[in-house]
Amino acid sequence: MKRLVIKVGSHVLSEQNRLARGRIANLVDFLAELRKRYEVIFVSSGAVAAGYSKLKIDKKVLANRQAIAAVGQPYLMSVYQKKFEKYGIVTAQVLLTADDFDSRKRTHHARNAVNTLIKNGVIPIINENDVTATEELVFGDNDQLSARVAYYFDADMLVILSDIDGYYDSDPHRNPDAKMYKRVSQIEDAALEIPCDPNHTFATGGIVTKLKAAKFLLEHGKEMFMTSGFDLSDARSFLIEGNQKGGTRFCGGTS
Ligand code: ADP
Repeated sequence: MKRLVIKVGSHVLSEQNRLARGRIANLVDFLAELRKRYEVIFVSSGAVAAGYSKLKIDKKVLANRQAIAAVGQPYLMSVYQKKFEKYGIVTAQVLLTADDFDSRKRTHHARNAVNTLIKNGVIPIINENDVTATEELVFGDNDQLSARVAYYFDADMLVILSDIDGYYDSDPHRNPDAKMYKRVSQIEDAALEIPCDPNHTFATGGIVTKLKAAKFLLEHGKEMFMTSGFDLSDARSFLIEGNQKGGTRFCGGTS
C-alpha cells in the first residue's frame, strides 16, 4: 500500500479565529476514505486557532502564540478523535520538530513509532512541538516539517491541502490573470526568494515554504501534490480516481 502524508494549513482549519468545524468534518471524511487505499499520516496545523478561544492573549507575541498552541493542541486532538471515532479509527498525537530529523537516533525512534501506529491501523496526527520549536509559528506553517515527515517516514507523496488550489505563475490573489501550473519538475532558486507576505491572521508560510518543501522532495526523488483544502474534489479525483483535474503536481520524470 502506498503511503501518503496529508498536510493541512491553518487557513483551511480555522475561520474567524476559531476552528472551522465544517471543513474539519469534511477533511476527516476524506481521510477515512483515503485510508481504505493508502497508509495515511496526517500533519495538522490549527493549534493556535483551537487555543485562542480558550486563551485570548496577544498573538503578536511569540511566547503567547506558543502558550495558545499548547492550550489548543489537546483540544484540536479531541476534536479529531471524536470525528474519527465515527469511522472506528484511532488517532495518535505525534509532536515533532524539524530538528528531530537532524538526529539519526531520533529519526529512527520516530519512524519506528509511526510505523507501529500505521501497522495497527492508527492515523498519526503530527504537529510541530510548539513549546520547543517555533518554526511553524514564525515561518513554516508545517510545510517544511511535512516534507521531512514524508521523506524520513518513507511516504510516496506529500499532499498539501491549502487555501489555494495550486501553484500559479504569480499570486492569484493579486493577479487575476495568473495561470496555474499542472506539473512542475524543478524549482528555480529565484522562486524561493519571493518575500513571504502573510495575508491572514494565522498566515506564516505562504507559497515560499511550500516551494521549499517541493524542492526538498524533488531533490530526494519524492512527489508532492498541492491542491485546495476548501474544496476537496480535486484531491479526491487525483488520489482516489487517479485523474488530475486540478492542483499542481511536483514530480520528476514524465510518469
Ligand atoms: P496555507 O495556510 O494553506 O498553508 P498560505 O496562505 O500560507 O497557505 O499560502 C498560500 C497562499 O500563497 C495563497 O493563498 C496565495 O495568496 C499565496 N501565493 C503567493 N504566490 C503564489 C503563487 N505563485 N501560487 C499560489 N499561491 C501563491
